[in-house]
Amino acid sequence: MKLEHIGIAVKDLESANQLFETLFNKPHYKIEEVASEGVKTSFFQVGESKIELLEATNEESAIYKFIEKKGEGIHHLAFEVADIDAEIKRLSEAGYQLIHQTPKDGADNKRIAFLHPKSTNGVLVELCQEKS
Ligand code: ZN
Repeated sequence: MKLEHIGIAVKDLESANQLFETLFNKPHYKIEEVASEGVKTSFFQVGESKIELLEATNEESAIYKFIEKKGEGIHHLAFEVADIDAEIKRLSEAGYQLIHQTPKDGADNKRIAFLHPKSTNGVLVELCQEKS
């Protein structure tokens, strides 16, 4: 596994983009809306990993609920795996609680699945695999 990206929940993607562009001294490389998740995302490449900024596009969005409850900040850590189906099976059998038993489409050309933070010391973990 490698740390693929860190997801950060933001209230306003446009102002967050400006802030992180200045911080990293380079522009985001894409903006992508994932309608099924009610999020608009932007991505920055930072060394070998990425930063994913997430803004809610409706009040049903998990990002909206997260910000209501905890405020803006780090939302999840995403780890790249070679075979997401095999990892889901392995981790389920090892007793981890998965939010998704089967991978779904995520942003940035990935298949993704989340582990429940109850299983992972309060950290929301995303598994992701590049779509071939
Ligand atoms: Zn993510």
